[in-house]
Amino acid sequence: MKINFILLISVFFFSSCTYDSNETKINSSTFTKKSLTLNQEKKSHFKTLSRKKSEEIRSLIYSLNTKHVVFIDPGHGGKDPGAVSSKGNYEKHITLRASKILQKSLSKYKNVKVYLSRYNDKYLYLRDRIMLAHKVKADLFLSIHADASKNKKAKGISIFSLSNIASDAEAKKLAKRENKSDFVGNMKLKNNDPLVVGNLIKIFQRETMNQSAEFAKFVLNDLREYSLYNRGHRFAGFAVLKSPQIPSILIELGFLTNKDDEKKLLDTKYLTNLCETISISIVKFLKIREN
Ligand SMILES: [Zn+2]
Repeated sequence: MKINFILLISVFFFSSCTYDSNETKINSSTFTKKSLTLNQEKKSHFKTLSRKKSEEIRSLIYSLNTKHVVFIDPGHGGKDPGAVSSKGNYEKHITLRASKILQKSLSKYKNVKVYLSRYNDKYLYLRDRIMLAHKVKADLFLSIHADASKNKKAKGISIFSLSNIASDAEAKKLAKRENKSDFVGNMKLKNNDPLVVGNLIKIFQRETMNQSAEFAKFVLNDLREYSLYNRGHRFAGFAVLKSPQIPSILIELGFLTNKDDEKKLLDTKYLTNLCETISISIVKFLKIREN
């Protein structure tokens, strides 16, 4: 009786093992088929997107009727490396490479002139970056950065524009300094009354902030349109965004502390795709301002 029971249990055990392994085989083959189909779907989706993007670029190439100046500011440089990845990749190098790729993407469009705040590994004060943009009479200012976080899972592109509260504090500081001069940026102010100058800067900055937020929305829409993973529109008091006259945004291209993002940030093909998308948003935004 005992032996029969053991035999019965063994038969059960072996048969269930065989059954399991068969099921695993079936499951794994279904899984491979499924993932193959998914990959094919993904590929064809990206093909469609890239075709759509080429068409959109083509439709925009000659769309601008007046000259526009776009100022690109590669974050950090020189003695300031910015974020450093665990593999030893420096943010300052990535921002410079991405900025040059963005410059190349924009060079396709008629009536767009591009300047960079730095063309090599050079240290620049934040104020000097804005000053340089004023000097070339920029219509648009883009600061390029790469993020870092203690949370290694944090990933994606962020678009920043200036927040209201930080803007007011900066307007006060700007007014104080600019009162010593007849100039605020490249704008001549005849009134030396600190209150008047301060309020004027606030008005200009508020208007510019609204335009910056609108520009940020343009970029975000296109990132979504072309399936580029992003964390949405964020607000912060970045000094580099505090020009009272030039609509400015700061783009964090991705996280150097995230493995996948770091790989992307080092990939020229990825950066080219991203910069082409951003260039579409830039031209569309400039076009609207022409009307
Ligand atoms: Zn940075």
